[in-house]
Amino acid sequence: MSRKGVKGLPWKEAGLECHKCKVLTEPVTVSYGGYEIRGWKCPKCGEEMLHPEDAQFVLKLKKTGRIEATVSRIGRQTVIRVPALIRDYYRLDKSRSIILKPKDKQALTIEITSSKDDF
Ligand SMILES: [Zn+2]
Repeated sequence: MSRKGVKGLPWKEAGLECHKCKVLTEPVTVSYGGYEIRGWKCPKCGEEMLHPEDAQFVLKLKKTGRIEATVSRIGRQTVIRVPALIRDYYRLDKSRSIILKPKDKQALTIEITSSKDDF
């Protein structure tokens, strides 16, 4: 694992305790602001906790309605730089492949292939 600390809080192996019951929580997907995000649930009291990275992503998206990326060139290649929020939410890394689906001159859909780590 390359991500560390609070930002890279592991999900499935987190070992987070419920602050009330002091028992280990279980990884679950939580519906938050219209998105399915990572979270944890206490098996005893049912309390749900949101993954901080995912919650931050949803809050930013709700606030601005959009996430901007920048385009640059490295040699002959064109690179689209995405913010860390997007990288973390979609867990983009070199093992992923991406499919571009052009719609028209203003719209281009980016489809991210699934991985065994997805939820
Ligand atoms: Zn609990």
